[in-house]
Amino acid sequence: MAKLKKAEIKPYKEMLIHLRARLRGDVSTLANSALSSSGGGGSGSSAVPSHMADMGSDTFEQDNTILLMNSEGETLTMVESALERVEEGSYGICLECQSKIPKTRLKALPYTPHCVKCASELEENNY
Ligand SMILES: [Zn+2]
Repeated sequence: MAKLKKAEIKPYKEMLIHLRARLRGDVSTLANSALSSSGGGGSGSSAVPSHMADMGSDTFEQDNTILLMNSEGETLTMVESALERVEEGSYGICLECQSKIPKTRLKALPYTPHCVKCASELEENNY
């Protein structure tokens, strides 16, 4: 049975945890930085013109958030299920053909559940 060793999975697990934190945190981080830049306006945050942040910042922020949710929500779901596979010990194994996913692919897409071959076959079926 093809399986990755815990030591092999570890770096990908860390990548996934960081990725998940970033995907989860992005929205609030954005909101916080927008708030602090419009609120401060003093010596520290001169890089962001405060009048820009003030005018119509509400709609601007909302549009941004929706974009983030759409593009990164799916990724977050994939990251979370990848972390579940880490816990199960099945991480790095293609869900379709049960063969090991190449490390180069895992480094590029640590949350992928499929090897290159199956991913391209699945894409052909989907579209
Ligand atoms: Zn496969």
